[in-house]
Amino acid sequence: MKTDELREKYLAFFESKGCVRKPSDVLVPTWDPSVLFTPAGMNQFKDHFLGKVKLDFTRATTCQKCLRTGDIDNVGRTAFHHTFFEMLGNFSFGDYFKEDAIRWAWEFLTDKKWLGIPGERLSVTVYKDDDEAFQFWNEKIGLPTSRIARMEEDENFWPASAPSEGPDGVCGPCSEIYYHLDDGSDVEIWNLVFTQFNRVGDPPDNLKPLPSKNIDTGMGLERTASVLQGVPTNFHIDNLFPIVQAASEVCGVKYEYESDNGRRLRRITDHARACAFAIHENVYPGPKDAKYVVKRLIRRAVLDGYQMDLREPFLYKLVDAVADSAKVPYPELSETTKRVADVIEAEEKAFFGTIDGGMKRIGQLFEQMRDESAVMVPGEEAAELNTTYGVPPELLQTLSAEQNFTFDWAGYRDAMHEHSIKSGAGQKELFQTGPLETLKEALRETPFLGYETTEANATVK
Ligand code: ATP
Ligand code: MG
Ligand code: MG
Ligand code: MG
Repeated sequence: MKTDELREKYLAFFESKGCVRKPSDVLVPTWDPSVLFTPAGMNQFKDHFLGKVKLDFTRATTCQKCLRTGDIDNVGRTAFHHTFFEMLGNFSFGDYFKEDAIRWAWEFLTDKKWLGIPGERLSVTVYKDDDEAFQFWNEKIGLPTSRIARMEEDENFWPASAPSEGPDGVCGPCSEIYYHLDDGSDVEIWNLVFTQFNRVGDPPDNLKPLPSKNIDTGMGLERTASVLQGVPTNFHIDNLFPIVQAASEVCGVKYEYESDNGRRLRRITDHARACAFAIHENVYPGPKDAKYVVKRLIRRAVLDGYQMDLREPFLYKLVDAVADSAKVPYPELSETTKRVADVIEAEEKAFFGTIDGGMKRIGQLFEQMRDESAVMVPGEEAAELNTTYGVPPELLQTLSAEQNFTFDWAGYRDAMHEHSIKSGAGQKELFQTGPLETLKEALRETPFLGYETTEANATVK
């Protein structure tokens, strides 16, 4: 089944259950100060869940453009994570609840009229104390208990993290649906959240029951397409592989799945897509917040290109392929390709102008560290590389991790602070671009894997 067809089927199925089809919200919700990018389908309905707005409808379904910066380090390494992706959702505001959400998810996945996935391929998790969900899956759906796992708060309470520690806002126990792959592993495709609390302040007693019980579900469009198409990663589905191929051509490198260059081409594909969508919404690369994320994504892709011996801007050449892959759901992207490509090219040029010096310096630094048996990249060096060569510290951290070096974030922050004092107020912005902002922002979105994640310990799944 083609990805465009899957998207349409999902929305049509939930329309048949009385859900109103609503358009995707923007990718960069300037109306919501709590996030830099839309992290999930439910974001546009926060006030609906809180009972703050008058409801014209109590059931909705969407396909939402999402971006999760917390997943940056997963991209290219795992088979199923992007920064930018589309999330299919169905939502109930005080209307249907747990049983219908579960029953309909199962019907959509397994009924031959819809996706027709064999039920034996699916297993689920529930929140450890959610006997209701457990019993419903077992008794009404007929899933054997061996395929229903009870999980702790940090796994099955959304947003992620234990209920006592998570961010303020709407939340609740959830039930995740997994697809069993031929290689024996399982991939999460759909999360059903039974949103019934508003988390306010510190525990205990910080979970306030909402005025009514709600449903918020999120199904990964690319992931579900990849299992239906039987391809090894999300990047191999019908609407993404053409971008991978375009990247391979533009970079002059043959695409091979299990290789460093394969991972680089997948990362370049992802970042080209994320940047095209963000810049289309007028978020240009810059020193802070969402703009800084765009800058970082472009520079990360440029570094990948550099490591494949490219010395000229190339990423901007993929904008047409991105627009083409998105022409059914987001035809408006085709109207801005020239502007978007120009913005990306300018940022690429800027980084290509300094990257040679930066990479040489990094090479010397790593050599020196090995000679001295040092294990941690000093913060002052990172600050110097940022201010002189425009190497974002996150990028240096990634390169360091590949060499099994750790990274001195505290030292980096101190050094940048020092630098901003020495250079006067004009340099203040530079400090604000540091990892603290990035970390804060990453934590606002789920989940953040931590800076320790390295190529070596991340599984290709
Ligand atoms: P994972 O555990 O695989 O990181 P998640 O639990 O963080 O996924 P949810 O927050 O439950 O994901 O989001 C709902 C659905 O969105 C997931 O079941 C998955 O299908 C999809 N999804 C989540 N993150 C990504 C991503 N980075 N790229 C592509 N699809 C994603
Ligand atoms: Mg998960
Ligand atoms: Mg999940
Ligand atoms: Mg995740």
